[in-house]
Amino acid sequence: MRWQDMTWQEIGALDRDRTVVVLPVGSVEQHGHHMPTGTDTYLATAVSEAAAALVDAPVAVLPSPWYGLSAHHMHFPGSITLGAETMMAMVGDIVASVVQHGFRRIAVVNGHGGNAGIIDVLASTLGHRFYGTARIACLTYFSLAREAIAAARESRHGGMGHACEFETALMLHLHPDLVHQDRAVIHYPETGTPYLSTDLLAGSIVRSFVAFDDLSESGTFGDPGLATAEKGERFLALSAEALADFLKDFAGWPIAPKTA
Ligand SMILES: [Zn+2]
Repeated sequence: MRWQDMTWQEIGALDRDRTVVVLPVGSVEQHGHHMPTGTDTYLATAVSEAAAALVDAPVAVLPSPWYGLSAHHMHFPGSITLGAETMMAMVGDIVASVVQHGFRRIAVVNGHGGNAGIIDVLASTLGHRFYGTARIACLTYFSLAREAIAAARESRHGGMGHACEFETALMLHLHPDLVHQDRAVIHYPETGTPYLSTDLLAGSIVRSFVAFDDLSESGTFGDPGLATAEKGERFLALSAEALADFLKDFAGWPIAPKTA
């Protein structure tokens, strides 16, 4: 169920206790020479909608607010970044509106590594704000499906980072008209330290700001040359299945999680 396609009466008739409301968040930022700036939001939305279709409990997917934290991409034309406070306020306002209508389970589904820190903060601040009224869960979909994606990848460490094997494959499956595979640049970045990783599935324990163009002239981290539409279909299925498993579980979480 796409929120923006429903009438107010249709939304009003949804079961407030069981319905999970999903907010996809992504980014508008450079994705190498071969992919569009909207890639992360296209993918977070597609994975959310595909997962919703796999769940028996009602799931309503909100329209994404598109923008995210992309300060590290700002040296490339076309990238747009929100301030951290703006993003906190924007997601907070959207969630508060949904809660005002009586919904009690809201999942923020993130598709952009640069948003990972802010959604952690949102899980705490919104969880506190709506404690006893609604449960708020925040996740990054490719981290949720990390093991399944790792088993399906072909690239070595560094081949999945940004506009890479993973994202390019998904876009070739979902929006092939927006991918210019002939312009793709393969690039395994070197951070110069084992404490900073650029791989999508690795994650760095140590966090430090890196301007993207300091590590990649093209804006690509990884190996888009390994991407195919068939692989993208598989990555979408794996990502949607992992998210659907979570949404089914989340639909049964107690609203006030008191166990003592
Ligand atoms: Zn991306």
